[in-house]
Amino acid sequence: EDPYVLQDMEKLQNSFPGFREKYRLIKRIGEGTFSTVYKAEDLLYDDYDNSWDLDRDNDRYAPPPLRSGDGAEAQPSRRRKPKYVAVKKIYVTSSPSRIFNELDLLHDLRGCKAVCPLITAFRSADQVIAILPYFRHADFRDYFRDMTVTDMAIYLRSLFTALASVHSHNIIHRDIKPTNFLYNPATRRGVLVDFGLAEREGYDCKPCVCHEPMARRMKRAAVKKLAAMPRKGGYPRDDTRPSRRANRAGTRGFRAPEVLFKCTEQTTKIDIWSAGVILLTILSKRFPFFNSADDVEAMIEIATIFGWHRMQQTAALHGCMFETTIPTIGKSGFSFEAIILWSTNRSGKELPEDEQLAVEFLKRCMELDPSKRISAEEALRHEFLQLGLE
Ligand code: ADP
Ligand code: MG
Repeated sequence: EDPYVLQDMEKLQNSFPGFREKYRLIKRIGEGTFSTVYKAEDLLYDDYDNSWDLDRDNDRYAPPPLRSGDGAEAQPSRRRKPKYVAVKKIYVTSSPSRIFNELDLLHDLRGCKAVCPLITAFRSADQVIAILPYFRHADFRDYFRDMTVTDMAIYLRSLFTALASVHSHNIIHRDIKPTNFLYNPATRRGVLVDFGLAEREGYDCKPCVCHEPMARRMKRAAVKKLAAMPRKGGYPRDDTRPSRRANRAGTRGFRAPEVLFKCTEQTTKIDIWSAGVILLTILSKRFPFFNSADDVEAMIEIATIFGWHRMQQTAALHGCMFETTIPTIGKSGFSFEAIILWSTNRSGKELPEDEQLAVEFLKRCMELDPSKRISAEEALRHEFLQLGLE
């Protein structure tokens, strides 16, 4: 192990009194912007009756069954199997409200299918650690290129199961991407983690024109056009635009168009777009698929696929303008089929039927207008997500 990592582990164990009696830190398994995650052994596992275990039948974590009786009827003692947990140390630079938000939402989501539950959390001065069941998983980069269409459907079924439960609580995850969905290709199960950017739908939100009925929206667009035209004796005063302070939290390349256009009334549909980007990544065998440095570049990447015409309509939906002179952005863009064939060196060929079904589903997830985009509940009923179900 890296001596700095060992030093950090030592520090962590020292700052929480009693930590060493409860957990044995094993190694660092993740390091992000807001936290460091360690694998640890739960030393008191045998004393708990609320240690969590994956319930194979219904995909959620549940307490292990109680042992029957003691003494005479007790099972012959078996060697205790070590129980692992993930210890997530949240950086002190995260604001207290941010830390509280993550723990609070996780608490709301306890018992949700395919969502990694919170076992407990500790605070010591300004330090907070969250204890989660350890979920064995593989690195996305090591398996996504080898997935069959059925593998993709099973992976996405697990992800959409998690999204359906999160969304039914009116919670937006806001950071759906492969490193936040821990998947084990051997068991074909996954759990959603990292609610550090999650928020409740409707929190800190102002009306956006995209939520208005079509007729009202058209009228507003007309007014805006007038306002945007130069007036005699000065520059246009553009008062009709909604305030452009909007939550843009998330990861580059996975942000939905309405996030890029700073929609002030974002919904759970932003997670569906990000899940679509994961599917596009798998189908095209390119990770990361989108590789923009900022929001403007991200818009250009999306516009290259969808064409400037549809991108303009999308911008207008949120009261924005999208103008470009970049020659690679055509009026009507490219089809997903063409992009996938091209990126997998099959240009000129046709997509097999099962991949076509995956692309149909992809189109429903990467729908530019969030109100037309498929919901997680609907997605679970889509023909593509029935693949691999017996
Ligand atoms: P961050 O906010 O720093 O991104 P995450 O909650 O996403 O924190 O965790 C970072 C990484 O740690 C994950 O990508 C994963 O590799 C690992 N990790 C997190 N939770 C678990 C868990 N319950 N079991 C196993 N590994 C985990
Ligand atoms: Mg993360």
